[in-house]
Amino acid sequence: MLSRQCIETPVQDDPEMVEIVHEVTKYVPISDAIKQDIMTETEKDIGLKAVKNYYNQGWPNSRETALPEARPYWQLRNDLFVENGMVILEDRIVIPPSLRSKVLNKLHTAHLGIDKTKARARQAVYWPGLSNDIVTLLETCRICERHGSKNFKEPLIPHEVPELRFQKVSADILDIGGNNYLAVEDNLSKWLEIKKLSSKTSGAVIGALKSIFYTHGIPEIIYGDNNPLDSFACNEFAKNIGSKIVTSSPEYPRSNGLAEKGVNIAKKLLIKSKESGTNYLDALREYNNTPLSGMDVSPAQILMSRMCRTLVPVLKEKLKPKVVNVKPVLERIQERVKIQHDRHARRRPVYFNPGDNVVVRRGKIWQKGVVERKHGAARSYYVKPLHGRTIRRNTFDLKKSKTKADNLDKGFIEPYEIDGYLVSSDTQVNIVPNVVPNNVPNVPTVPKLREPVVVLERLSLKRTGDQILNTQSKHGRIVKPNPKYCNPNMITY
Ligand SMILES: [Zn+2]
Repeated sequence: MLSRQCIETPVQDDPEMVEIVHEVTKYVPISDAIKQDIMTETEKDIGLKAVKNYYNQGWPNSRETALPEARPYWQLRNDLFVENGMVILEDRIVIPPSLRSKVLNKLHTAHLGIDKTKARARQAVYWPGLSNDIVTLLETCRICERHGSKNFKEPLIPHEVPELRFQKVSADILDIGGNNYLAVEDNLSKWLEIKKLSSKTSGAVIGALKSIFYTHGIPEIIYGDNNPLDSFACNEFAKNIGSKIVTSSPEYPRSNGLAEKGVNIAKKLLIKSKESGTNYLDALREYNNTPLSGMDVSPAQILMSRMCRTLVPVLKEKLKPKVVNVKPVLERIQERVKIQHDRHARRRPVYFNPGDNVVVRRGKIWQKGVVERKHGAARSYYVKPLHGRTIRRNTFDLKKSKTKADNLDKGFIEPYEIDGYLVSSDTQVNIVPNVVPNNVPNVPTVPKLREPVVVLERLSLKRTGDQILNTQSKHGRIVKPNPKYCNPNMITY
């Protein structure tokens, strides 16, 4: 509607157009001071000054003959007009270069995501390269990065289905109702063993592993996620019996694929037995003799080639041995799982080099760190966080980082907790479990404030990446402001 055919007739000679233009700019919600700023800086800028001249006197016939500084506006020339000394693109103010970073910061007041910030910008302002500038700003904003969303999943790398029974097993330590258990699942037959541990020490775990291997033989590989399976003693034990412990990255049990399921089954079995007051070993015997989902054979039938006699009555004929070959079936199931998983795995595989700046997910926040080296397991890296010991993480919990550490990262702001989130006492946002440094000398501590107005960040609306600004009442309660009075996107100085 506002586009004008270029060149011949300057717009001020067209009373109808003048009226339309006034309709547009009349309601631009900016103060006179800002308008003055924009007018002054527009006049100072060679490109926009040229645009104004072209608007009044007509654009040149080709892009090449336009002033180089005005060429970025060439494509838009039919939609640009001048009003009150400002260049307007349709209904957006064209911001001169000297004011762009200031406006960008205003656009980012609420630390919203890229799409929302771009959408907000599209409602109000324009300059060539605005979208890229928004992307760069957000990529370098430590606050947004700290509270960034989780990575998308990467395509699944399934474990190879083993040829033999008890060739590869997955082991896990469970803590149920204050008792520790070792759960071991055979990756081919899904036979599950659960051993109660006297303690969560390497010695206790080794003892339990031994008793399982006395019965079933020694596996070639033991997949194990957690402590103390990854301890030196357990690794030595495995080596001495001709086996190997392979750990997937801590906090990413999914990379162990098959292990997760057996562990969950063991957990539920233990909890339900506890609640029903029955012996978990009775339940375990029934589980091992129950057909697996998607198959009509039980772990016992696969592992021992026979049904075991249990408390459930069964014809004697059924207890006679029969070898079952499940490898092809398992491979088909695994393929199906991979296809299903990969449909939602939108993240391309990422790779890191030693020395790369990264952020590592710890609890609900992304902490700054540096990649030390690659770990032998797929998608696994050793990372040195800004504070604390080197940790091992899967790429799911790592992102490349372009930000600089802020005062919170450096420990110059002492965080305190509200609703499970750590919050700083200034206006920054802080959710930093386990990172309060103890190696920074003379850290100035900020006392816990009793009556501050603290700006908190997102405590809800996780899915959309939206944020709401909350305040803390003088009694420490979190208060969400009325959205009617809260427009964090307003472009005002
Ligand atoms: Zn931000």
